[in-house]
Amino acid sequence: MTAGPLTIHTFTSDVFAENAYLVRCDASAEWMAVDPGGEAAAMAEMLEGSGEPLRAIVLTHAHLDHIEGVAELAERVPAPVHLHPEDRPLYHSVAQQAAMFGHRVRKPPPPDEALAPGQPVILGACSFEVRHTPGHSPGHVILYSRAASLAFVGDVVFAGSVGRTDLPGGSFHRLMASIREQVLTLPDETRLYTGHGPVTTVERERTGNPFLIPQHPGSQA
Ligand SMILES: [Zn+2]
Ligand SMILES: [Zn+2]
Repeated sequence: MTAGPLTIHTFTSDVFAENAYLVRCDASAEWMAVDPGGEAAAMAEMLEGSGEPLRAIVLTHAHLDHIEGVAELAERVPAPVHLHPEDRPLYHSVAQQAAMFGHRVRKPPPPDEALAPGQPVILGACSFEVRHTPGHSPGHVILYSRAASLAFVGDVVFAGSVGRTDLPGGSFHRLMASIREQVLTLPDETRLYTGHGPVTTVERERTGNPFLIPQHPGSQA
């Protein structure tokens, strides 16, 4: 799908229905991978077939479903792994996360780059603002492209729902503050590429998401 200066391919995993994304900066023919999960092999195939470079593997957060494909992707198509430091403990516990589901997962390479607000992820001629959005996990971030009018929002907000906050390091109050301050402050027309489920927009969630409409006590959080 073309989105202004970007082309976006979605890879949804079987087990967790997690959305991973391959993002191409069309002006410079360079790629970024977001949250490689269960479909990492297909992502690697597309990148290998393109003959164009993968510049970054960017993780919105380090839950198993969003990182289970990092090892395979980084092995086949090496690129620096970007993660917010507050999700490093989760990242390093990926084997324990997998064991909870009776899964085994290959150990991913250590993160190379620390994501931080104010330090954009640069993909050739395209750049992405990093916004820290704790609540679902402590080091969750979203990536915003003003030029393409879209954001990759991981498990912060979904079409009609919000991320769960009952996992270690989760906080409902922090999540609601993150959504209010970092997501709903984006322009209404911004398309939100979520970690699960369909693409939505800021306006649709601001006006129709039962967790976010003003009557809900969460808005007081
Ligand atoms: Zn998650
Ligand atoms: Zn998820």
